[in-house]
Amino acid sequence: MNRKCLLCKRDLDYSLSLAWIFSLEPFKEKFICDDCQSRFQRIDGPTCKGCGRMCASQYCADCVRWRKMGKPLLDNQALYCYHNEAMRDYFEQYKFAGDYYLRKVFQAEFQQFIRQKYPQRKWKYCIIPVDQHMVNERGFNQVKGLTAKLKTEQWLVMDDERHRVKQSHKNRAERMQTQQPFILQSPVKVKNQSVVLIDDIYTTGRTLYHAQDLLLKAGAAEIRSVTLAR
Ligand SMILES: [Zn+2]
Ligand SMILES: [Zn+2]
Repeated sequence: MNRKCLLCKRDLDYSLSLAWIFSLEPFKEKFICDDCQSRFQRIDGPTCKGCGRMCASQYCADCVRWRKMGKPLLDNQALYCYHNEAMRDYFEQYKFAGDYYLRKVFQAEFQQFIRQKYPQRKWKYCIIPVDQHMVNERGFNQVKGLTAKLKTEQWLVMDDERHRVKQSHKNRAERMQTQQPFILQSPVKVKNQSVVLIDDIYTTGRTLYHAQDLLLKAGAAEIRSVTLAR
């Protein structure tokens, strides 16, 4: 069977090198070719301790602002740069064109990253919900797709009530910035827990800080976040 790269559709080279056979590395199933892989930019080097973007100073200007607003920083950690053509193309296809199979490109790596940073014996993994309209249209929640093999909690749901109030002349993006978009189901479960929020992309951080607000109010002990891209 000739597997093809999920991104460029060229045949994947499956010949195993001798060096690999004698190495102790676990076998990692490949879904994209080395060329496509090399177009993504791993976050590596000094990063902002608040949001995980590559940054020479300890905290970037955005995170300084969050702190001034009284938010405990999330210490977000991300694997890849979002400001990169390959990553933007990827999300365009995965999220917006609804190509669910593309979850495979990063799933294993992302799950391993989360497990390593935050061992599950201590941390609860809380998925950031996606607008139900998007899920209906697309047929899946892209964050869940990326973490399908992790035990995750669906404590947060979108506040549909609020979303139905469409008469507001603000567009959705504007409303998201100001209003709490989520509801916390069974807050009792959150009390005294160490929680890792999981999302696909960290852009402004607003979504994650909205989630943090609710969890803190419910008595979570500590909250961090992890995203595939930043
Ligand atoms: Zn390729
Ligand atoms: Zn930052």
